[in-house]
Amino acid sequence: MHCVDTQEDEVQPRKILVVDDSKLIHKMFEVLLRQFSLIHAHDGIEALQCLGNHADIDLILLDINMPRMSGLEFLNQVKADQAFQEIPVVIISTEGKEEDTIRGLEAGAAAYIKKPFGNQELLEVIQRL
Ligand SMILES: [Mg+2]
Repeated sequence: MHCVDTQEDEVQPRKILVVDDSKLIHKMFEVLLRQFSLIHAHDGIEALQCLGNHADIDLILLDINMPRMSGLEFLNQVKADQAFQEIPVVIISTEGKEEDTIRGLEAGAAAYIKKPFGNQELLEVIQRL
């Protein structure tokens, strides 16, 4: 006999948009963030399309260095758009690129996590936001 908890069905997992040109990062997040529903984009342009297609994204994890459209350009567009500007953005910060992180925070990012990051650190930042 099949038991379906309808209440549980009604609880949608939080949606996180992962924007990074590194396939490895996407795979890592798939493992670390199993309890969330992940949407994957590999540059800023694709990420903007994803935002347009999914009205209910709760959080954005954002790389800075990407082809076509950088994370900073993407962030500026998100913050300039009333439909998206409230979505918290977490910068995935690369060692040695601290200025990018600072610029991202100045542009409205809510937080950053430093690569390499641990599971715990990542979940703490996400839960906080
Ligand atoms: Mg990158």
